[in-house]
Amino acid sequence: MSRVSTPIRHRTLAARVGGVALGGDAPIVVQSMTNTDTADVNATTRQVAELWRAGSELVRITVNNAEAAAAVPRIRDRLAMMGVSVPLIGDFHYNGHQLLTDEPAAAEALAKYRINPGNVGFGRKRDTQFATLIELALRHGKPVRIGANWGSLDQDLAARLMDENAGRAEPWDAAAVLREALIRSALDSAARAVELGMAREDIILSCKVSGVQDLIAVYRDLASRSDYPLHLGLTEAGMGSKGIVASSAALAVLLQEGIGDTIRISLTPEPEQSRTAEVIVAQELLQTMGLRAFTPMVTACPGCGRTTSTFFQHLAKVVQDHVREKMPVWKLAHPGVENLTLAVMGCIVNGPGESRHANIGISLPGTGEAPAAPVFIDGKKAMTLRGENIAEEFVGIIDGYVREHYRIAGD
Ligand code: SF4
Repeated sequence: MSRVSTPIRHRTLAARVGGVALGGDAPIVVQSMTNTDTADVNATTRQVAELWRAGSELVRITVNNAEAAAAVPRIRDRLAMMGVSVPLIGDFHYNGHQLLTDEPAAAEALAKYRINPGNVGFGRKRDTQFATLIELALRHGKPVRIGANWGSLDQDLAARLMDENAGRAEPWDAAAVLREALIRSALDSAARAVELGMAREDIILSCKVSGVQDLIAVYRDLASRSDYPLHLGLTEAGMGSKGIVASSAALAVLLQEGIGDTIRISLTPEPEQSRTAEVIVAQELLQTMGLRAFTPMVTACPGCGRTTSTFFQHLAKVVQDHVREKMPVWKLAHPGVENLTLAVMGCIVNGPGESRHANIGISLPGTGEAPAAPVFIDGKKAMTLRGENIAEEFVGIIDGYVREHYRIAGD
């Protein structure tokens, strides 16, 4: 019989971003990025707080001009007044050296600088501007992410590697050369940062591409060639189910191989959809893989012709929404509650069996079955719910179980 295997983490250096441990033995960190204009202090503060409440442990904001840089310390202060302590990461392209020089308060307020080696500057200026960014990080005691991206690859390096490749007895295909250019861009920039005095523990790497197989190939290679903590994410993953599936497919393979210290799911939000979807997907990916626990997991059957009423779907949604809503309070008052498992099942075929495997499960009556919903608690049938208020009563049972089973020591 094959055994369930827990991934053995690829060994990386232990970094710190603000108060958050990243790499080494630390749990895999969930991060996200705002899509507000950073210069709009109100909107950005609101969205950072929303992402943090959803569970984002680091939040990145773009710092693209003087107004955005000036807004950073104000955003940091507002968040502190709201009790939101999430570390902010500044995302810089082209003018980061200038913005951080001109706005030391922004340089201080940020917990990490993201530097894209393909977008630091052009020609001879690239090296000096990169050096300035590293010197600023050193002056303010901040770690950096050297984040190469397929869409903004260092063109000089790519051209040089293409030339080298042409001289090979057996040239690689073009995609392999571009993958190598991406990895070399990150590794060479990290080596340069170390030469400039940066501690290796203060460097995090990423090499993002938008294709699933390319991402897997790039990160396997990158992990085999370095011990820097790795930021994992499929760039431009897309919208809705496509973005979720593509990100999950790529990241799951790598996470299962122990590769990745922090993840971001780059979802394009649907119109009107909250930005927090990317945080929830990241958490659910880690939790369904058994790598971390964030929120009680709800197992629900897909429903079929045996349960024709929509009540079953309604109850599954009520339970899912209830636990997500409660989590910010439960997390503080009921440690360990994130490991709670719940089941909402549509009929007698798999209902009682699956419900017994959860801490609390309910098996609803299928079409033609007696109108009774047995509830199972820790594997044993505890009661049967009937009538109009099954949803409210079931939620009440969950709340009672949480109060009873997840108490702060001495409470
Ligand atoms: S538990 Fe019942 S309703 Fe749900 S999928 Fe299975 S057979 Fe269908």
